Amino acid sequence: MADIVIIGAGPRGVGVLERLAANAAELASGVPFTVHLVDPHPAGAGRIWRADQSPLLKLNSMAADVTMFTDATSTIDGPVLPGPSLIEWAERVRTCRIAVACDDAVRAEIQSLEPSSFPTRRLQSVYLDWFYRRAVDSLPATARVVVHVASAVAVSGERDAAQRVTLDTGATIDADVVLYALGHTGSLPEPEHELLARFARRNSLVYIPPGYTADVDLAGLRPGEPVIVRGMGLAAVDLVVLLTEGRGGRFLPGPRGGLRYLPSGEEPRLLLGSRRGVPYHSKIGSSLRATRVEPRYFTAAVAAGLEASSDRLSFRDDVWPLIAKEMLWGYYHELFVGHPERVSTTWAEFAARFDPLGAHSRELEQLVSATVIDPIDRLDLAEFDAPLRGARYASSADLQGAVRGYIERDLLQRSAPEHSATLALFYSLLYSLFDLGTIIDSPKWSARSRIHDLAVWWPNLFSFIASGPPAHRLDELLALSRAGVVTFVGPDLRVETTPGGEFLASSPNVPGGFVARALVDARLPAATIGRTDNAALRDLVAEGHGVEELLADDDLAGSTGRLRVDAASSLVIGADGSTHPRRLAVGAYTTAPFVGAFARPGTNAVSFRENDRVARALLEVAARVAPALQGA
Ligand SMILES: Cc1cc2nc3c(=O)[nH]c(=O)nc-3n(C[C@H](O)[C@H](O)[C@H](O)COP(=O)(O)OP(=O)(O)OC[C@H]3O[C@@H](n4cnc5c(N)ncnc54)[C@H](O)[C@@H]3O)c2cc1C
Repeated sequence: MADIVIIGAGPRGVGVLERLAANAAELASGVPFTVHLVDPHPAGAGRIWRADQSPLLKLNSMAADVTMFTDATSTIDGPVLPGPSLIEWAERVRTCRIAVACDDAVRAEIQSLEPSSFPTRRLQSVYLDWFYRRAVDSLPATARVVVHVASAVAVSGERDAAQRVTLDTGATIDADVVLYALGHTGSLPEPEHELLARFARRNSLVYIPPGYTADVDLAGLRPGEPVIVRGMGLAAVDLVVLLTEGRGGRFLPGPRGGLRYLPSGEEPRLLLGSRRGVPYHSKIGSSLRATRVEPRYFTAAVAAGLEASSDRLSFRDDVWPLIAKEMLWGYYHELFVGHPERVSTTWAEFAARFDPLGAHSRELEQLVSATVIDPIDRLDLAEFDAPLRGARYASSADLQGAVRGYIERDLLQRSAPEHSATLALFYSLLYSLFDLGTIIDSPKWSARSRIHDLAVWWPNLFSFIASGPPAHRLDELLALSRAGVVTFVGPDLRVETTPGGEFLASSPNVPGGFVARALVDARLPAATIGRTDNAALRDLVAEGHGVEELLADDDLAGSTGRLRVDAASSLVIGADGSTHPRRLAVGAYTTAPFVGAFARPGTNAVSFRENDRVARALLEVAARVAPALQGA
């Protein structure tokens, strides 16, 4: 009997389970094996998607854009086994072709779910649970699954020998091969967070460090009291929802199609700020008028050529200018071809003049000013990335008006049919991300590119443009701002502690500031290996079987904070530089590019390719250590 241990039974862990079932007939026919799933949270949903969380928290993907199944686009060695996307699954539940156990609220949501709905995380939980059970059922008769409701704290065992996994219950599991699928891990407090926590304790204040909003205790944030919220990304959106609607407030239809907020009186006063000072761009609700233009400036072929011809790759110098130009190319193609009434020349004429110009050049700005009639259609990428940069406001009231105006414009540009060019921009960005993926493993990247640009700057820009909240969340933010529950602090947010024992939030662009007795760092923990709170990861590194990625060149030395894995095999790389043939790792904390877990259907998702490859590697070990049963 072979024993495969998967630590972490979230979407990645059970995605690999499905692939074990899919590949078993080819690679482990007749081989008796046990898959041990180790997770303190429910298998399938795991921690992030567990059912036990507020029904107000949602996915930021649409129901039509979520699947756990491979499809005809999947380039994998194992068999493609299609299955329903989230919306198709909901349709089958509605028509009784799939039976699921769920509460009334989720059942009602399934009944009304549409392809463009943003489902609750509790609904996704039921989909993932169903997916997990189906994967278990499709394993061969020679295989079984054992679930261990516990955390793994250590793994022992030398290379190419049996491994032993120790759980926090004290129990152990003997393993032939171990997969770490730990997902989004937490962090021990950073020095700044420790200082703020100490200051808060000394002065009886509330300080909430970076965390997973669903797991955070918000009870200390008192009704009517100001709370500084540092961060305006998705964690802040979750926080705002929990502290407003979650405290009994209601959104009602308001003037001019917007919303009006009816407070419950239980909400704190939220003071929102960040580096940009504005929320992420809303999800897009329009559709393309023109056929999507072929990528021209940053394609997989261009990326490969660049990689082959350079000694050292710089993301900012070599790649970003090409991606920026690709984004502008896609955007203006849709504007000129889809909406010729909004421009004063033809696409052919514009494209010919655009071609030789730099993405950030003065000449391009002049060309756009001369040919794009309405300034709202002129795309300046620097301003798009930092809309309030350089702006000065005479008062906080002025800033509130400016941020509300910005959000209203963003909503218009991302939903009105005449602004479908923003959708083309999104596609160009998305396909650039895919094409970048083809050279992301190159050893030629400069240390600065790997440590800063590819690990921080670029994912942040991508999230700001492409992974923002659904439009209705921004409508809600506008209503909360008008109701005085939310106040914007401004860009380049500064948080200080005052001699009087309070927190002070201010922006260099706005006079004055706000004092408060509560501060929330509304972002996910920076899950670096050096500071991880995950006992299994700490043990892996402490034992020398795993190592944090350190990089150095003549410009910069530093760490990406990720666990080194061999990109081609997902085998963990140890302190001595060699791979461990019995330990594999996937997920956001590894040096493999972040690929999420579920995907848009029909996109040859990298996560499914990785799951297939990893499952095949696990089965190969199983087949090596356990003889096949006769006649099985
Ligand atoms: C708050 C949040 C919202 C998101 N929303 C979306 C979205 O809307 N759309 C989208 O496409 N992506 C979203 N993502 C991206 C996310 O990466 C994927 O949706 C998915 O959760 C990743 O799956 P995973 O299994 O790798 O990680 P996780 O979902 O984090 O699962 C990992 C599992 O490992 C377990 N684990 C960790 N350490 C141990 C240990 N030592 N012992 C035992 N078990 C352990 C955890 O308990 C957890 O259940 C979101 C991520 C977060 C954090």
